[in-house]
Amino acid sequence: MTKIIRFGLKNDTQIVAIPCLETNYIFLLQRKNKAICVDVGDAAPFLEYLKKENLPLLAILLTHHHSDHTAGAPQAAAATKAKIIGPSEIHSCPLDEVVGEGSKLDIPPFSFSVYHTPGHTKESVCFHEQEMGVLFTGDTLFAGGCGRLFEGDASDLLFSMKRIRSLPKTTLLCSGHEYARENLRFAACLEPENVDIARRRSFVEKAHLRNQPTAIAPLQEELDTNPFMRFDQPELLERLRSCNLKGPKEVLAYLREKKDKW
Ligand SMILES: [Zn+2]
Repeated sequence: MTKIIRFGLKNDTQIVAIPCLETNYIFLLQRKNKAICVDVGDAAPFLEYLKKENLPLLAILLTHHHSDHTAGAPQAAAATKAKIIGPSEIHSCPLDEVVGEGSKLDIPPFSFSVYHTPGHTKESVCFHEQEMGVLFTGDTLFAGGCGRLFEGDASDLLFSMKRIRSLPKTTLLCSGHEYARENLRFAACLEPENVDIARRRSFVEKAHLRNQPTAIAPLQEELDTNPFMRFDQPELLERLRSCNLKGPKEVLAYLREKKDKW
């Protein structure tokens, strides 16, 4: 099991990644004694952390309806009186506020823009804290990979990948699962000569030995190493030339199907 890590940002702000279940993360964005969290698959480790830190919780943001991201939310909300906020596809717990594309959340000292990023589920969203330059991606995008298309198709995935790619390259992406090792093995298989993928794989393998999370990375790192962000890069397209794929949508469909069977 990976350890809890803290990632320092400006203005005394931290991201805290709390591992739960087998591979999930609960993320906290914390400034002094104010905190919001993103996804709560299991309330126990989360409430234990809040208690130890004596930390009040302002809000629980949920990215999509899967239970490994939501099951702990009702208990966490009952214990902290925090509001639960998420897309309307979530029915397993009562939402205090429903969000979707274009929603703005002002939860001082934080404020979030909400992006609809379909594909993994119909109404999946990402939460963007612009001042801190942090994007919480849920299961839309992972370190080195992306979520399975349970409720969407390659068009949805293309839409969502373009949306994330359009953000500043320094944006720190926080993804919902510890999947980087396997994802980067797949990426290296696709692009064996890509030195950025090789370098990141080596970093991730070392982090794994120390039980350190690797689910937080800047967007630039994904642009360099994540095949699902590289759907139009000449180096990758050259490797896929024999597949006769017609455009980005076909490339993403091919990559997702290949990864599903991998
Ligand atoms: Zn999911």
